[in-house]
Order: sequence, then structure tokens, then C-alpha cells
Amino acid sequence: MAVRRSMTALLAGALLLAPASAAVAAPTDPEALDAVAASPRGPADTDLPFGVGSDQRGRSADAPGRQPNQPAPSAKLPGKPRNDVIADAPVELTDASIAYNLIPYHDIPPALRDLQRSGRISVEIIGQSVLGRDLHLVVATAPMSDAGWKTWQQLSDLRFSDPQAALAKLRAGGYDNWRTPLFINNNIHGNEWEGTDASLQVLQELAFSTEPAIVDMLERHVIAFVVTNNPDGRVAATRANANGFDMNRDYITASQPEVRAVRAQLVRYSPLTMLDIHGYVNCTLIEPTTGPHGDNYEYDLYIKHALRNALAMEQAVLATGETRATCANPDGSRRNDIPFRDRTQGWDDWPPIFTPMYSMYHGAIGHTIEVPLNPRGNLTEAERHERTRINTAVAVASIKGNLGYATENRAQLLANHLEWFRRGVAGEPTRPIDDPLALSLARGDNAKTHLQGFPRAYVIPAGAEQRSATAAARVVQFMLDNDLEVHRAWRPFTLGGTHYAAGTYVVDMHQAKRGLASALLGVGRDVTNDFNAMYDISAWSHGHLWGATVQEMSESVILDAKALRPVTEARATGAVAPGKQANYGLVVDSVAGIQAVNRLLNDGVTVSRTADGTFVVPGDVAVVRPIAEAYGVEFVKLTPPQVRTATPVAKTRLGVAANGGEIFALRQMGFDPISVTQTAFNNGTLSFADFDALFVSTAAFNPLSLNTTQSAAFERWLADGGTVVGRGASGKQFNDRAGLLDVTIAAGRSDANGIVGVVNNPASPITGKALSTSFVDAPQYFTRVGAGVRVDQRLADEGFFLAGHWGGQEAAAGHAVVVSGEAKGAKVTLFGTEPLFRAHPEGLYPQVAAALW
Ligand SMILES: [Zn+2]
Repeated sequence: MAVRRSMTALLAGALLLAPASAAVAAPTDPEALDAVAASPRGPADTDLPFGVGSDQRGRSADAPGRQPNQPAPSAKLPGKPRNDVIADAPVELTDASIAYNLIPYHDIPPALRDLQRSGRISVEIIGQSVLGRDLHLVVATAPMSDAGWKTWQQLSDLRFSDPQAALAKLRAGGYDNWRTPLFINNNIHGNEWEGTDASLQVLQELAFSTEPAIVDMLERHVIAFVVTNNPDGRVAATRANANGFDMNRDYITASQPEVRAVRAQLVRYSPLTMLDIHGYVNCTLIEPTTGPHGDNYEYDLYIKHALRNALAMEQAVLATGETRATCANPDGSRRNDIPFRDRTQGWDDWPPIFTPMYSMYHGAIGHTIEVPLNPRGNLTEAERHERTRINTAVAVASIKGNLGYATENRAQLLANHLEWFRRGVAGEPTRPIDDPLALSLARGDNAKTHLQGFPRAYVIPAGAEQRSATAAARVVQFMLDNDLEVHRAWRPFTLGGTHYAAGTYVVDMHQAKRGLASALLGVGRDVTNDFNAMYDISAWSHGHLWGATVQEMSESVILDAKALRPVTEARATGAVAPGKQANYGLVVDSVAGIQAVNRLLNDGVTVSRTADGTFVVPGDVAVVRPIAEAYGVEFVKLTPPQVRTATPVAKTRLGVAANGGEIFALRQMGFDPISVTQTAFNNGTLSFADFDALFVSTAAFNPLSLNTTQSAAFERWLADGGTVVGRGASGKQFNDRAGLLDVTIAAGRSDANGIVGVVNNPASPITGKALSTSFVDAPQYFTRVGAGVRVDQRLADEGFFLAGHWGGQEAAAGHAVVVSGEAKGAKVTLFGTEPLFRAHPEGLYPQVAAALW
């Protein structure tokens, strides 16, 4: 019942405060009063721990209304936490948290204002959810002057700019008073609530306790809490956010606003430890994980502290005495579930899609915590509340266990963190685990790591060597947003015997966060034979799936430092061919290109397409110039014979039976998808006449379930030249039910996924200019292609599987994965690949757009 009591206390406090005056209300805590008294200029003084009020109130990592080609504001923010005015949220009596006896979203702002009174707490609005709810970051630390924060920021930055110097300074005592950043993220899965409640309880203590241990802790750390990373999901009791995304699969892609907001804070603090609190796994699960371990982490450095921190958190959970939160050992003692120690496979840290794994690239000892008891489902109210009470107590214990460990081992943690970055700057290979405790406790192969050598650099060429200038700028800006160093050549230069144009980007891999650069730009590795079972996907790559030409330079090349300048933002400038043109051509090679074409179509501009897939736009500079500037695309000169082959393209009215990730990706491209079902057609809500194209990848639309009238209407729609794009097994099933293309399909393992090498049919308007890599998940491939069906893309022969996990992959080699043809008068394309998967492989989007237009 501790939860309700403390919440009641918080609410009672908050009732005394009107929202507008909340931020300047006099603190009641004796310590904070001292801080105010010590200041000659009163409560609004900047010598207070955090400036009251804010000149950047509600600044989002993600300003709404931003044009597609404008880079996001730099993720790097100043170190000094702000104290924003925290506005109330509308009371929602349907908030799912209430039934669980947990804090509803609308009670969070008053609770945060109450914490702000303490003088030890700042609260910032770091962005908004998809539905517009504020995302709050709470930072707890002892009061510090502006000058103190300036020094703090300098020492913080030195970690990455010169980790060797930072290590020397640490040894000389120069970091003794530097407060180490620690980070706790909560409720990223909206229906795993308790981390939020636990963090508010811990914050109550951090804010108001006079215990010497707490006061000391606040002198040593800057402790950042994301109250809820998924407020929309918290209110609605959904795992996903309002776009249907599992955000704990999105950290390496950052397609969602809630993820970008928290990512900016991880970049800003680069914390030493990071907890991401989830539910629900029996015994309470505390990472580190089983193998395979991600190749790009400094795993030997990570595991030393991850394991000991996990053991400390386990002790804290055991000390709660909640036996329902722990499991029995054979000898009768109790334990939690620490996968590195207790499991042999299936709970890995391989993909940095997960929040704690992503944070490891910023030097954090990252942990997922799974509180033990699922409160959902058919339970009595008493049992439901008992479960959330225990879960909250467990989350409190794990946070405190972590804070205790970080306080006791502060210097070693910091030395370890700096060594991590030092190796990056020095360009040293990763090392095997050498910690005796880790080696002795590892179950199965969990102590095995793959030793990673890194390339000397990645090159993202400019000019003719680059297949997509807009995709190149997108990748570079993404790297900058992830705190990576990128240089640009101001003049032509030579590297590894190749000449590169001015404007070429170079990612020097001798940098602090080189592991993240490698994770983004490298292809990854085939881990099929490392472990049998993987927890989630096993491959991703911005370098290979986002549509830009990215080249790897071996360790032996020598960089021409004089040609290179650091860049702080990347933006494709766009261009329009000079002179008077009858028509302009636009090659769609990226998301920006698709957006530009959809914008032209939405604006009612006459657009056609040549046989080779180039878009033809009338020669009106007033029309194309603003598009070139907004999207960074290039309008080129066309020859009359090219123009003569062009056929008209109309705005695509798109119906979809697809998953949330695909619908999001289609919207990103500027389509306006409308979900379709047989029921909606049968009851007259939808009419086939309102659509030009259907994208089908789920079983939500079954043409065999249409009534007689709608079935006839569907056949007429097909005969009138409708467009059908099917993806995966359900797309193929739709094709068969509608009696369209004559093809036979085979399926890879349902848990298989990865990056594949493909061979494109140069005559295909869908894949003629496509990337030579693609992405598969639960792969489908065509083993027989009937007469009149074109193979647009097939898997390469031997060695097609470049990265990921796919048992039995050999059987798929050489088979078709994208096919198209005409059937019943309709244009039909089937994808066995996953071109829109979780909005990640942006470089594959043009294939889908080409099939839909
Ligand atoms: Zn979860």
C-alpha cells in the first residue's frame, strides 16, 4: 500500500499549488530552504540548483511541422538541467493505470511540481508523445551553481573528446567532484506500468530525505529519470505507442518521437549506468543477458560491472522479503533470473533496438529489469493490486540497488567508462572477457564474444559515386543526432587509391563512440551458428538498408586530415538543371524523393514516368524550385526520347491491410493509407471506386468474404487496372484468394531475419535501380514463377545471407523474392522481403512506392 500512501501525500502537496505559481513556490524541505537563504537574490536566482522557469519551455527533440529536408535540432544539449513549468494534463478517468492502483498520467504533473519544490529536482519537458502528451525528464542532484554546471559540462565532454586526458585527470583527482550521470527509463511498454510509480517513490526520497546517505548520493551523481517513455500506452494499456510501434525495438531506428526525445537525453548525459524497467518475468529478471553479445560493445568492460550491478540489485530485491518476486535455488536460497548466469540462450543483447543496449554505445552499463508478476488478465482486484504493489517494491529495490552500486563503485565505473572510449579513439580491437567472476558465473556459452576489428573509416561519397545524395545526407544527419563524429572533405582527395569528390563524408573510426558508428554503418554478421534462439531481430544496417552508398576503408588506409572538416549538420541542398527546360526529370532513390513526388501529385502537378522509372515534371522553375529546396532532391535535364516513353502517374488513393509499422512507413512517404476490411466494403463504408491501389500484408482483408455485390465490384476494380501490392505470406494468400499471379511460395523459418544480397532485374520499373541488399523477416521466396510473371528481384546465389539469423537459409539461394505481372487486368506485385519493416529499411521504400504508383 506504500504506493497509494506516497501518491496521496504527493497529491495533497500538489493541491496547495496553483500550476502557474508551482515552479516558484517556496521549498519546504529544510535543505532547500538553506539553499534559498544562501542565495542573495531569492528563489528565482540562477545560483539555485536549477534555473526556475525556462527559456526553452517544452523544447522538443522533434519540432512539429519541420520540413522533411530540415535536419533535426542537434541532440547535444547543455548539461545544466532546466526547470520547466509543468502544465496539468486533462483528467482521464479511463486511464488504465487507475484500475491497477498505479498513478494515472494526469496525476504525474502535480507530483512533479511537488518534487520541484525540493531544490534538488529539475523537471524538463523533453518532447511529446504521438498523441501530444508531454514527456518528462526528472533530474535529481544536489544544488550546483551555474559555474559548477559549466565545469561539470567541460568534464562531461572531455570523456569523448579526449578520453586519454580524462583518464589522466581522473587519476590525478580531477574527477573527484564530478557528478556521474545515471539514467532510469520507465514504462516504454505502456502496459508495464510500475517503473513509473517506483521512480516517483525513489524521487520523493531523493527530493526530501535528510538521510546522510541520500544527501551524499546527490553530491556524487546526476540522476536522470524518464517518468514514462510511453504516456499514450500507459493510459491506453497498450505495449505500443499510438503509432503501433514497440518502441523497445526502435532505438536504433528512432522512427518514433518518444524514442527521439529520450535518445537526445541519453546522448546528453551518456550515463554510466542505465536501467529500463519492464514487466513481467517470473523471479524478476535482471540483465546482463545470454549470448550472442553484440560485436560492437566493449563487452569485457561492460560485463565486469553489469554482472556485479545485477548481483547488487538482486540482493536489494531479495531484501524486500517479497517471496513472490524471487525463485528458489535447489539449496532453498532465493534468487532472481539473471540470464547471463541462469539461462543458456534466447535472452540476448545482440540488437541495439533495445533501450539499454542502445545506451551501451554511449558507455552505459545497461540493464533491462523485468518486474515479476503480470497484473493483467482475469484477476480479482485484490490480487491485481497486490501484484502491482510487489512489482513496484521490486522496481524501487532495483533502482536503489543500482544507485547503491554506482555510489560505492563510482571511481571504478568511471575509469571503466573512460577506458571504453579510450579504446575507441586509439582504434584498438575489442577484447575477450577476462573477469574471473564473469567467467565463473557464465552459463553455457554466455561468456563468449566475437572479437571485432573495426575499419579505419567509412566513406559516404559525394558526386557520381553516390547513388542518393538525399539518403547520404539523411544517414549523416542520423549519425550526428547519435553523437557521432563525421567529417566532410572541403576539396577532392584520395583515399585507399580512390579519388573522391569534395563534399564526401568520412567517418573516422578512431572515435569514442566507434561501436555505435560500426553498428549503424556495418552490415553485421551471420549469427545463425552462434546460438539457436534469438530474442528478436538479428540484423539492421543504416549503411546497407538506408539507400546511401557507404564504403568501408580497411584499417591500413591513411586519412587525409587536411582535406577534412568536422560537420555539425547534413542537408541535401537539392538542385534544378540550368537553362530553360520543357520538362525536368526526377529520379526517386530515397524517402525524400518519394515525398517529393507525392507532394507534386497532391499539389495537382502533371507528373508522368519514363520506361526506366524517372519521373517527368513540367519545366516550370516556380514549381520545382521549392520542391528541390524542401526535399533536397535534384531535377535533371531529360532527353526528348526519354520524355516520349513517359506515361501519366496519378495520385494514389491507397487502401491497406497492413501492420502499424507499414502504415507508418507509407505515411512517411507521403501516401495517405486507409485501412480496408471485407466488412467495411460489405456494409458500404468503403467502395472500391475510391481506391487506386491496395497494399496487403495481413489477413484483415479477405476477398473471399466479400458479398456478391462487393465481390463483383472487386473484380471490376481489378479489370479496370487496379494495383495490388502483397507482402509476405498474407500478401501471397491474398493473391491466391483473388486468383492473381501464378506463383508458388516457400517460407524460411518464421523466426529468421536478416540482410540478404539480391540481384535486381534491370528491366524492372520496381527494382531496376534498387539496392543490392534487402531485408527479410520470416522470409518468403518464390520457388515457381508461372508464365507472364516477371522476376523483379531474386536472392543472390551462394553467400546471399549477409547478416542475421536464419537456419536452413541455403534452400532459398537464387530464388525470386519480388515478382510482378498483370492478372485479371490488375497490376500485381508480391514482396517476399520486408521493405517497410518497423520503418527501418528506408532504402527499400522506393521499391514499394514504384509498385504502388
Ligand atoms: Zn517490456
